[in-house]
Amino acid sequence: MKRRVPRTVEPIVVTHCGAGSTRAVRDAAGRAGRAGMAALRRGGSALDAVLAATVVLEDDPRTNAGTGSRMRLDGSIQMDAAVMDSRLRAGAVAAISNVRNPVLVARKVMETPHMMLAGEWATRFAHANGFPPYDPATDHARARLERTKDDLARKEVPPWARAWLRERGTDTVGAVARDGKCRFAAASSTGGVSYMLPGRVGDSPIMGAGLYAGPEGAVTVTGVGEEIWRLLLSKSVYDRLTDVGAQAACDVGLGLFPESVPTGIIAVGKDGVGEACNRDMAWWTNARSRGSAKAARP
Ligand code: ASP
Repeated sequence: MKRRVPRTVEPIVVTHCGAGSTRAVRDAAGRAGRAGMAALRRGGSALDAVLAATVVLEDDPRTNAGTGSRMRLDGSIQMDAAVMDSRLRAGAVAAISNVRNPVLVARKVMETPHMMLAGEWATRFAHANGFPPYDPATDHARARLERTKDDLARKEVPPWARAWLRERGTDTVGAVARDGKCRFAAASSTGGVSYMLPGRVGDSPIMGAGLYAGPEGAVTVTGVGEEIWRLLLSKSVYDRLTDVGAQAACDVGLGLFPESVPTGIIAVGKDGVGEACNRDMAWWTNARSRGSAKAARP
């Protein structure tokens, strides 16, 4: 009897360190990407790969996710993270505190009947499930909060949105992956933005806004959460993957935003990868070329 040999595709991982992140953190994007590739080589799925990659980025104190997360105006740290895969399985945490790797808690939420846990209850869920209490605060985050407060004091409290848009970098992290069986996954993790009230939830843990994955590919984005959410940016890029290809889908998505709004997008589809950002963005991929719709068609 003839055995069917499963068709395999080139495994791909893409990582980013946030819209506005500079070359100085490119090594983090690379280390994260290679950790994702190592997970795939060990036989892991696309989901395992984005988790492995995102944990590396969360543990790097220079990024605004996990250790090194930005502080709220009251000095607290609340983080958002999410994962999603091609089977539309998803897990997310919003405004979680006192844990080291929010993305791993989001993965744990995926195993429950729910899609998202928020605030104090997300933190309790994490601690009850074996994630030990952990303080992600860094001196850098403390200094940044002082600067934010000085800004507010000197400029008589600028309008919230305008203050956000003035920020140079955002530094959230994210990863997308495709494994050899053409399964996709996306992850995102953030400490949020500056000028941020306690309790604020951005786009990063919201399916369709901060990330999206499905049978056609995976997308994760970075920038001003409220602006991204309004346009459901990740789903809008995902919906174009098949028609125009991964790179053009990212370009069209970026074109929805004025230059003044920092925005970054990474994607992987059946044709390959896409990346677009209107600021510097440290990112990494093992893929040698950008995806185009032509490449996706047999
Ligand atoms: N999108 C994130 C948020 O608004 C910030 C970022 O991408 O850096 O929380």
